[in-house]
Amino acid sequence: MSEIIKKLQSILADGAVLTGEDVSGRAARIWMQQGIEAKAIVRPSSTAELAAVMRLCYENDQRLVAQGGRTGLTDSHITSRSEIVLSLERMNKVEEIDPNGRTMTVQAGVPLQIVQQQAEKLGLQFPLDLGARGSCTIGGNAATNAGGNRVIRYGMARDNILGLEVVLADGTVLTSLNKMIKNNAGYDLKHLFIGSEGTLGVITRLVLRLREAAKSQDTALVAIDEFAKVIDFLKFIDSNLGGTLSAFEVMWQEFYQEVTSKPATNKAPLEQDSPYYVLVESLGADQSVDTERFQNVLLQALQQNLLTDVVVAKSQAEINAIWAIRDSVDELRRHAPVFIFDVSLQIKYMSDYVQQVRHGLDKQWPGNRCFIFGHVGDGNLHYVIAVGDGSVQARRKVEACVYGPLEKIHGSVSAEHGIGLEKKSYLSMCRSEAEIATMRLLKKALDPKGILNVGKIFD
Ligand SMILES: Cc1cc2nc3c(=O)[nH]c(=O)nc-3n(C[C@H](O)[C@H](O)[C@H](O)COP(=O)(O)OP(=O)(O)OC[C@H]3O[C@@H](n4cnc5c(N)ncnc54)[C@H](O)[C@@H]3O)c2cc1C
Repeated sequence: MSEIIKKLQSILADGAVLTGEDVSGRAARIWMQQGIEAKAIVRPSSTAELAAVMRLCYENDQRLVAQGGRTGLTDSHITSRSEIVLSLERMNKVEEIDPNGRTMTVQAGVPLQIVQQQAEKLGLQFPLDLGARGSCTIGGNAATNAGGNRVIRYGMARDNILGLEVVLADGTVLTSLNKMIKNNAGYDLKHLFIGSEGTLGVITRLVLRLREAAKSQDTALVAIDEFAKVIDFLKFIDSNLGGTLSAFEVMWQEFYQEVTSKPATNKAPLEQDSPYYVLVESLGADQSVDTERFQNVLLQALQQNLLTDVVVAKSQAEINAIWAIRDSVDELRRHAPVFIFDVSLQIKYMSDYVQQVRHGLDKQWPGNRCFIFGHVGDGNLHYVIAVGDGSVQARRKVEACVYGPLEKIHGSVSAEHGIGLEKKSYLSMCRSEAEIATMRLLKKALDPKGILNVGKIFD
């Protein structure tokens, strides 16, 4: 057993340091069998313990990678044999909820779904929401600046975090647990760490901004025959719902057909022959008034030929069934190997962009399966592309098809998943030299020995 492991064991409680099969027996990615490769998994249960671990690792030039729920989609949490995993799984307490101040103070290892449920119990909501809610942690959400389903109304993780506590590479504890919405006293340091993918510090505690829970929820699935009308409908419904639009999730035909046909268990609430489907949702304060307004707006959109068909959910079960269609991304994995993309672009370029990507794929792989869906209201498209043999070479070719046309329109290779390992060779496509140089400067200043999640985002 290496010296560093012995030292870590000596400062932590029994069972806090895992080695051997306890490491390799744990899935590196939550949805795959392959085990973690690392010297050890270290599981502190308080900020003080975590800071002691980091001090020790800093003194011994030991590299560390923070891990939450291991649901990240860019391999930013993946470790090598020489690294140590710093797991936040024992730091999983909700410390305080202030219903009037509308804040929740939590440890970083709390799963997102627990945060949501705790808020709901008090008639409040934490609006960040994503398919991995049961497994991902709030610390991981902050570290990746996660987006998800309700960004159009409530913003990304960054917009829902008021304060952070972070431990720096050398073990310094930076407590900045601000609870106020307004605080312009100098630099707002939390923003340095949000979205930094564990490369600048380890997030240990957070103050979350809560909102009043919605008292009404209206959900519909609509069919649209042209992409230009998808954009017109977004503007139309957003302006006519007076600020209550909370989701605008577009699914292209191939995606919809796939997730509403056997062996998928979803039923198709609308015929499967439309080019586009949009899940729209409105969260409001009075069900009787809101439902009427929601349905009127949809009726007007139908009358103006923006939509070809509509189905409005009439019960919670129907709401869940419509959301299940949008959340059925896992169904697409049965076409493995698949390549997953998360791009961002101005909505005005979307139609042309999608055609160019398709053209590129069809040229090389006739008969390919290309599933497109996304948070179009946020300019965010996801691609799940089933082609090739899953090799690195195939991946590069598919990337050329997806990223080539994106570069010309100054889009981003990462809308919400981050850069990690997977996209770092494309960082310079969407960030300038000066931006990347400043990122490196920050990394050097906060992690001078280079021990924290090394080689992620950039080398
Ligand atoms: C089914 C599914 C659906 C998803 N949907 C979405 C979506 O809609 N929107 C979206 O944005 N993402 C989505 N994701 C991606 C993923 O869930 C998010 O990136 C999530 O925020 C990662 O959280 P985690 O706890 O699993 O972090 P991990 O995967 O463990 O780690 C991710 C990164 O954060 C760092 N990190 C983790 N915890 C800490 C910490 N306490 N301090 C510092 N760094 C830390 C890690 O080092 C790594 O760089 C989805 C994933 C799946 C599997």
